[in-house]
Amino acid sequence: MRLDKLLSNMGFGTRKEVKQLLKQKGVTVDGVTVKDASMHVDPDNQDVSVYGERVQYTEFIYIMMHKPPGVISATEDVAEKTVIDLLDPFARHFKPFPVGRLDKDTEGLLLITNDGQLAHNLLSPKKHVQKTYYAKIEGVVTEEDVVAFQQGVELDDGYVTKPGKLVILSSGEKSEIELTIQEGKFHQVKRMFESVGKKVTYLKRLSMGSLMLDEQLKLGEYRELTENELETLI
Ligand code: URA
Repeated sequence: MRLDKLLSNMGFGTRKEVKQLLKQKGVTVDGVTVKDASMHVDPDNQDVSVYGERVQYTEFIYIMMHKPPGVISATEDVAEKTVIDLLDPFARHFKPFPVGRLDKDTEGLLLITNDGQLAHNLLSPKKHVQKTYYAKIEGVVTEEDVVAFQQGVELDDGYVTKPGKLVILSSGEKSEIELTIQEGKFHQVKRMFESVGKKVTYLKRLSMGSLMLDEQLKLGEYRELTENELETLI
């Protein structure tokens, strides 16, 4: 890989800024000062250092975001702000994308990565990755709803959902629930409640597979996954 690309990917600025860095003799490859931006290096087997500090090259980035409402789960959009727009330039260098979608008004756990294989595994219907949501509902959620969701409900397009685990946290004119599902159909949680005549007024994803939302993250904040979170997820 080209030296300027590697350094730029690792957060040392734009290609132009990296050129400056090279000019200032800030970069060594295997101990030798290099000024040629187009030099090809093997990041796994060569020591690339910036001002004496070795650059740890990583190909993939794994980010947990507490998605705020009002942004869309896409990489770019002409009209709307996306979750990628919330990332700093270092993270954006990796060209990451959100793993699956949360609606614009939905909050909570969103995994953002450039690891296509992991994304594929997490989204594949065959893998039955469980997602748990917290929701506020307009209407009284009942034990009949729990049974109906367990058995599968028919959505407006005729699709019958796989069993979902509904836990009633509080029930009244406004109810609070947790729902765990293993699919990710368009607007699935909202449509499941519509099928039993109720309306979701607030939705937040709490977990996806083994990955749980870090409640220390405020809306719009994000951090890289820990090694442990990543190992358990894969
Ligand atoms: N189900 C929904 O209805 N919306 C989401 O954003 C996620 C799941």
